[in-house]
Amino acid sequence: MKLCTLLTILLLPCLVAAQSADNELVNVKELIPDIVLDLKYSTTDNFLHQKLYTTNECLLAQGLVKRLKVVQDSLRVRGLGMKIFDGYRPRAVQYLMFEIFPDPTYVADPASGSNHNRGGAVDLTLVNLATGEELPMPTPFDYFGDAASHGWTIGLSAEQIANRELLLGMMENVGGLTRYAAEWWHYQHAPSLANPLMDFQMK
Ligand SMILES: [Zn+2]
Repeated sequence: MKLCTLLTILLLPCLVAAQSADNELVNVKELIPDIVLDLKYSTTDNFLHQKLYTTNECLLAQGLVKRLKVVQDSLRVRGLGMKIFDGYRPRAVQYLMFEIFPDPTYVADPASGSNHNRGGAVDLTLVNLATGEELPMPTPFDYFGDAASHGWTIGLSAEQIANRELLLGMMENVGGLTRYAAEWWHYQHAPSLANPLMDFQMK
């Protein structure tokens, strides 16, 4: 047997195990203790004006959280950090959202599911780590309109554009995550999208 064949046979279970561990949902705060959570769907401060989650826990695929940790480490040296608005989202909540706001540009059709239902997408912004204050961005979270899209400049200040671009550069260049064109706050992690659509409430 060739050495490389033997190595493949021996290492394959380890590689598969590492991959499946990366797809498991984990508590973000446990891996990144200084990340700020402001889970809008755990409150009534959201476009549905309803509390949709039973806890303030934020779960995401471990592979995605590892990438976020790299981003947070890079931001911290600038006195900045991340604030998460949403992570894993039960599919039942996706049905409710789509029933009330059936625009697939902003709310994924629950029939095909959202990457939030896979724990593979995160909604977030930047904060001053010392004060917790959000950096000015083009729009509030869940603003459903053109001004939320990447590349939009009309009516925006140079500071709002620079902050959006800083977040984009950190997430894509440092974190290896990918943007969603219509929402400056939404990023996803391609390997985590292999996860099934899930529908359990956080406890
Ligand atoms: Zn999102």
